[in-house]
Amino acid sequence: MVTVEKAKEIIEKNYSCSEGSFVAALNDKDLFSPELFWEYYNSITILVAEDIFSEEITAQIGISYQSILKLFIYHFSEQDSCHLENFPEDYNGYIERLDYAVESYYTRRQMALSEDKFELQREIKTCDECGSKYYAMSSKMQSMCPECASILYGYDNCNHVFKGGRCIKCFWDGSRSNYIDSLIKGK
Ligand SMILES: [Zn+2]
Ligand SMILES: [Zn+2]
Repeated sequence: MVTVEKAKEIIEKNYSCSEGSFVAALNDKDLFSPELFWEYYNSITILVAEDIFSEEITAQIGISYQSILKLFIYHFSEQDSCHLENFPEDYNGYIERLDYAVESYYTRRQMALSEDKFELQREIKTCDECGSKYYAMSSKMQSMCPECASILYGYDNCNHVFKGGRCIKCFWDGSRSNYIDSLIKGK
């Protein structure tokens, strides 16, 4: 699970085009990585959710966002040899996500769009333990939400931010299985 510190680091790496970032994969490897895309996107949304704003981060987000858009343009250019592997057909959906994330950072507001209005959907899974839906990428376990994975197996939990009955970071709805309930009450 991405923490605030990790989110800052990910944005800085994209800004400086460092190895392992979404921008570096596009620029150095001519590769579009959905995984690294979501890592970058989630980092911005986490900073918005946690109210972490600074001029430095604003500049880093602005510049990395420009790099991403430019690399997309080069991909389509006839004259340019930079063609991206694995470039998604629904790239519009990715750009829409980025637009909203960057805009919400600039305006210091949670995204006005609700999740289901986005063209590009996140992968959502159902937790085997508590039955809540959760974002696949928010958990290290295949079929367990970060909350249950943390309580039962000691994985890092999401630092939940609840808005409208669900965590905006991992999508957990606060459900508890009877078993976990008894564990918590037994403590
Ligand atoms: Zn669960
Ligand atoms: Zn959460």
